[in-house]
Amino acid sequence: MAARVLDGKRIRDEIKAELVGKVRALKAAGITPGLAAVLVGTNPASEVYVRNKVKTSAALGLFSEKIDLPASTSTLELLDLVDRLNHREEIDGILIQLPLPPQVDQSLVLNAVDPAKDVDGLHPINVGRLVSGDYGLVPCTPAGVIEILKRSGIPIRGARAVVIGRSDIVGKPVALLLMHEHATVTVCHSKTRDLAAVAREGEILIAAMGRPAFVAGEFIRTGATVIDVGINRLTTEEEVRRVFHDPTGPLRLLAEKGQVLAGDVQPEDVKKRAGAYTPVPGGVGPLTIAMLMANTVSAAGARRGRPAPKSSDEC
Ligand code: NDP
Repeated sequence: MAARVLDGKRIRDEIKAELVGKVRALKAAGITPGLAAVLVGTNPASEVYVRNKVKTSAALGLFSEKIDLPASTSTLELLDLVDRLNHREEIDGILIQLPLPPQVDQSLVLNAVDPAKDVDGLHPINVGRLVSGDYGLVPCTPAGVIEILKRSGIPIRGARAVVIGRSDIVGKPVALLLMHEHATVTVCHSKTRDLAAVAREGEILIAAMGRPAFVAGEFIRTGATVIDVGINRLTTEEEVRRVFHDPTGPLRLLAEKGQVLAGDVQPEDVKKRAGAYTPVPGGVGPLTIAMLMANTVSAAGARRGRPAPKSSDEC
């Protein structure tokens, strides 16, 4: 039977539609959720991400503010900005777009964000809450992974889940969320022995490595649900031929756009072995901004002692 495609765009649109209702309910109570997005320097990818975040905020009826700072900005200047944003009542979410320039002490800046406004879920207090299971603001991409699984009706409770990758932004939080959802979780990394065999134990397999098409057929248990978090930009014909068994379409795309996106999972193998999988693009990627919006809306409610209503409350 053909593997089922888990459509991230459809789930993103569903979440956004629910958020519109939640924002309306908050506004009726005099609360407009506000997001401040801070961009330091001129990294083109970061500029696109921040622009999309601000655009989505506006489309959902949030107040948003984009703050552009020069690449030469110092740690002290950023700390001063974060302090001002922490004290501004109308700002509920503070997003510091990463990476920051090398002269900036990234963790000092992230740790200065008020945990109640930490919509990226990276502050140690929010990380601790995630570990303990009493969590509110969690990192957006891992939260998106859980939304895809739940909204696609994939059973998590009791399932064997294998996560490849242990970064603070993706691998660790996704593993913790799966554990809190009662999966039995194994976390793999670059030192894991016999990785393919361990991965093959997963009824749910999460690939978050940053290695294009590394997860080949032998890593995938027959019928597993495979969530591909990887976003790798291929820019040469050689890379495209290495990743795609049939490179015709991708090579055309490379000629047109100058780059082709590939996940961490071999895109043709997964169709043959998995029961369900997220494509790249169009799988996990679309969820990240939606979950940032969800975090901002819930921060706005929580900061005023008013948890955001569930979408069904407004129906
Ligand atoms: P990191 O580079 O921070 O972490 C990669 C992890 O993968 C590490 O834990 C590393 O192990 C592990 N790893 C790397 N190579 C291997 C290997 N050969 N075998 C086993 N494990 C390996 O990446 P991120 O977690 O930040 O991102 C992962 C991917 O997800 C990237 O492609 C990124 O672009 C994408 N991403 C997508 C997002 C989205 O919106 N969809 C958002 C964020 C990231 P070790 O710890 O031992 O080094």
